[in-house]
This record gives sequence, structure tokens and C-alpha cells, in this order.
Amino acid sequence: MSLLSVDQARERILSHFQPVIPEMLPLAGCSKRVLAADIVAPNDLPPFDNSSMDGFAVRAGDVAEAATDSPRSLRVVADIPAGSHPTISLAAGEAARIMTGAPVPQGADAVVPVEDTNFNDRAAGTPVPENVQILKPAKPGWNIRPRGMDILSGEIVLHKGRLLKPQDLGLLAMLGFANVSVFRKPRIALFSSGDELLPPEAPLEEGKIRDSNSYTLAALIEEAGAEGIRLGVAKDNYDSVKDLLEKAVELKVDLILSSAGVSVGAFDFVKQVIESNGSMDFWRVNMRPGKPVAFGDYKEIPIIGLPGNPVSAFVGFEVFVRPALEKLGGLAGGSRQTVRVRCDEQIDSDGRESYLRVQVQEENGAWVARLTGHQGSGNLHSLVQANALLIIPAGVKCVPAGQEVDAWLI
Ligand code: AMP
Ligand code: MG
Repeated sequence: MSLLSVDQARERILSHFQPVIPEMLPLAGCSKRVLAADIVAPNDLPPFDNSSMDGFAVRAGDVAEAATDSPRSLRVVADIPAGSHPTISLAAGEAARIMTGAPVPQGADAVVPVEDTNFNDRAAGTPVPENVQILKPAKPGWNIRPRGMDILSGEIVLHKGRLLKPQDLGLLAMLGFANVSVFRKPRIALFSSGDELLPPEAPLEEGKIRDSNSYTLAALIEEAGAEGIRLGVAKDNYDSVKDLLEKAVELKVDLILSSAGVSVGAFDFVKQVIESNGSMDFWRVNMRPGKPVAFGDYKEIPIIGLPGNPVSAFVGFEVFVRPALEKLGGLAGGSRQTVRVRCDEQIDSDGRESYLRVQVQEENGAWVARLTGHQGSGNLHSLVQANALLIIPAGVKCVPAGQEVDAWLI
């Protein structure tokens, strides 16, 4: 059995995945989905010159000298609410009342806010005055948002592979995209294995523990933008594992994810089942926790076998499964947030690439990391108390207090 570096193991896994095919979705359903094509603006934004204030559209030249003690009087020739389409053209000495967002009429090149006129009444339905006194000067362009100032037609505004944020949906709506091409969600079948596992609702029995991994892993899958399908718990025997794998095949999932049953002793029958209809590689990866990782395929569906210990399963997900789901889901650039943190105490390591549970907080302008408790791979509580995984690189045996290392926010 070969000992791989974390990078080697991850590369081997990733080489088996390609992005899933895209689907067209109504815009309202696209939050947190990944764009499957570049978005090209079909028109300018704003689409027409419009007013950024409630006020009066004017010719700036007419009011260049206006002042409170020397107002300029203009004849009001039109009323332009938002949504209307003015057909007039302002001549010298004329103004048009205009609302925020309304198109600026021909001939006008500035808007004077109502506050800077003697007509400060913006209540709906107020009739327009015959004349308006302009109390402050204006220059060409003032309070006008010109067509195309934000986006020009033909510009790429969102790139393929982007995870869509709420504001992106707003921009897509502005540009008239009622349906959007996004990658479909990768579908992952998930199961736990072990004769010792009970569901959370069952009373504890001698020698048994509750299946926690399937809850953690299902939530991680969902958070990573994929759809998790829980197949339950496989008993430690050939037929039970085979039943669940067959279910996964029927469901046509993109990946099968299991936890436990991949340590040397328990592994044999899982390997047998998988090799009856596929192939299985069992690796030891130079990492801590989570050294044993299994990878293979069953009837051509890729399968990743994570270790059973709850912290190992979590770390294995972060290191191997999340990148695989991101590649399957078409996400560009990944989503991981890495920060540089200062170790609060000396940390000894055994030379494996180590992922330690820490609480990171800001102290006097620096990010400081503290271990959250004993680092046994079954101690899920210390993971719950952590907000980051501190990474000690392979080959490092000791990180002195005060040294900076990378950490992944979790
Ligand atoms: P195994 O990989 O089967 O040797 O399991 C390693 C350790 O993880 C054992 O202590 C198991 O009891 C524990 N374990 C296995 N599966 C789960 C699970 N689904 N939830 C919590 N602990 C588990
Ligand atoms: Mg087991």
C-alpha cells in the first residue's frame, strides 16, 4: 500500500471528475448556483440617460449663474414621471419637472434638485407650476446618469464558474435574463458503515455509538452546493454493502461517499464488493487525522471512502471531497478561505501534513490560533469548538509559538 502526499491523493481523485452538464433554471431559483456560461450584457445599463434626483431638467447654460439672491426663472413645459417616454425637446428658457429614474428629455443636460428651486413640493399628484425659480447653478451632466455608465452592451458581466450571489440575481434581472444556464447540482449518495452504529433517536446500548458522520457529511454536501442522498447504514457484511451500492447505481449519482469500513481490518469486504463490479484503490495518505482513504468506482460511479472517526471524516471531506464536488459542480477558483494565523503555543507534529482544530481570533491586530482541546480523531467536540483547521505542512515536526501558518476557516 503506497503512502501518498495529500496533493498527490487529491490530484488522483480530481482527475476522475468533470463538471456535470448545465441546466436552464428560472432566475429566482439560481441563488447559490454556479453559472455555466459567461453572461454578456445584451444592452447598456442604465439603458437611457436618466435623472438621479427629483427635480427639474434644464439646459445648464440657462442656469449657470443662478443663485438664491439672483434666481433664474424657467418655463415648465413638461412633467416627466418615471416610466414615461418624453417626446419634447427643451428650448432655451425651458425646464421639465422630472422624477428620479425618469428619462432626461432632448435638449436638457442637467437636473436641478427640487431643494435648489422654489418648488420644493414632491408630493404625488402636485400639479406642475407654470414657472420655476432655479436658486443654484448647474453644470452639464449634473444629476444625470448617462446611458451605459455602469455597463456597456457586449461586456462580460459575470463569468462561467461563478457562484451566484443575491446581487448577481438582481443584475441578471436588470439585463433581462429570466432563465439562466447553471450547472445542475452534483448528486451524492452517502452511507455510513459499521455494526456499532445506532440512529440518534435510539437509546444507547452496550458497545454501540450513534452514527454522527452521516449528519455531518450530509450537511457538508449541502453546504458545498450538492444534493446529498442518504442511503443509511451498511452493516459490516458483504450483502449489506452491496445493497447500498446497488441503490446508489439506481439513483445514477455522480459520486458515492462512505465513511468507515476503510481501515485495514474492516476494509476487506468493502473492497470485495466493489471489486465485484469495479475497482478499488486503498491508499494511506501522509496526513493526520485521516490517513486511510479509499478511492475507486462501482459500476463506473466514483466512490470515496472516508475514515470512520468523526474528525477524520470531516477533515477528509474538506481535503478531498469538497474539491471534487466543486470540480463536479463547475465552480471556478474554489471557495476555501485561507488565512495566515500565529500559533499561540508551540505545536509538535509527527511530520505528516496535519489539520488541527483551532479557535482563531484577532488580538492586537494579529490573528492568533489556539488549539481547542485534545486532538484525538474521535473528539468531535473539539471540532465543534473550533472555527478553523490549522495546517502543519508535511515534514514539519515543530512549530514554535509565535510562528505563522495557514489555516482554513470552517
Ligand atoms: P472504522 O473506520 O470502521 O474502523 O471506524 C473508526 C472509528 O470511527 C470507530 O471508532 C467507529 O466506531 C467510528 N465510526 C465509524 N462510523 C461512524 C459514524 N458513522 N459515526 C460516528 N463514528 C463512527
Ligand atoms: Mg467499522
